[in-house]
Amino acid sequence: MTPLIPLPFDQRTGWLWLDGEFVEWGNARLHVLTHGLHYASSVFEGERAYSGQVFRLEEHTQRLLESARILDFEIPFGAQEIECATHALLNKNSIVDGYIRPIAWRGSEQISTAARASRIHLAIAAWEWPRYFDKSAHQAGISLQTAVWRRPPPCSSPFNAKAASHYMIATLSKHAAERNGFDDALMLDWRGQVAEATSANLFFVRDRELHTPLPDCFLNGITRQAVIALASSLDLRVIERAILPEELCQFDECFLTGTAVEVCPVGRIDDHRYQKFKLGKALANAFREQTITHKKELEHVM
Ligand code: PMP
Repeated sequence: MTPLIPLPFDQRTGWLWLDGEFVEWGNARLHVLTHGLHYASSVFEGERAYSGQVFRLEEHTQRLLESARILDFEIPFGAQEIECATHALLNKNSIVDGYIRPIAWRGSEQISTAARASRIHLAIAAWEWPRYFDKSAHQAGISLQTAVWRRPPPCSSPFNAKAASHYMIATLSKHAAERNGFDDALMLDWRGQVAEATSANLFFVRDRELHTPLPDCFLNGITRQAVIALASSLDLRVIERAILPEELCQFDECFLTGTAVEVCPVGRIDDHRYQKFKLGKALANAFREQTITHKKELEHVM
């Protein structure tokens, strides 16, 4: 099932934050000879606001700054400026619960693989986006099809950066899965081990144990880390390890974690079906609860 997209993004209205200023949505334009477009020299974040507060904003901002450094550029704004701009943008657009997309990229000064003279830009957009998959998929569990493309080895891709360049194979894989009637793709890694979905991490449940692939060649998601921390409060054992495709039929439950999908049940991977979403549901509820607690904690500090 495809995500709900009510209006093309360039036709929306509201405000964006671009290089230190608010600009009207429709006026946030780039030149076609932008390095970020030609050579994928861009890094971004996906964040969610719950009741007006951005969940783990500091961690997302640090990851954004670090992703840029990994791609050999420095974002010309500090963490505090970015965080203030994010909240100001939410206020200006009257968004209380929504998704936030900061993106930094190399400009149009140089078109060549070397581009150290390029100006670095930063934009932040925000919009209301209640769900990544549609409601019925979220309730019944989404379906994944194993992709042909694989996550590359760490020596071939700076996997810790949330960089646009990583998403080419994600798009190809998700298109193929959707064409075959699935919601998303399961990506294996270069060794053939289970890695993640196209934009979310993966967990399996057996007895009271959570099994999840070691993030040694893909993003160690902020939601993944939050769910691992929550699992201990529910007396669940978390085992981070190599998981092989042959093991998929040995688990009782499966779910995804990510800023966009939150904690989302998986009902099927290829021909394997997962009928239950019990511990996953408990974790999904605990995660939701944490987004509220997070807000209360912030209120307490302020
Ligand atoms: N893997 C990939 C490839 C992603 O794009 C995302 C979404 N950022 C994740 C995992 C989950 O990360 P997070 O929980 O930080 O959103």
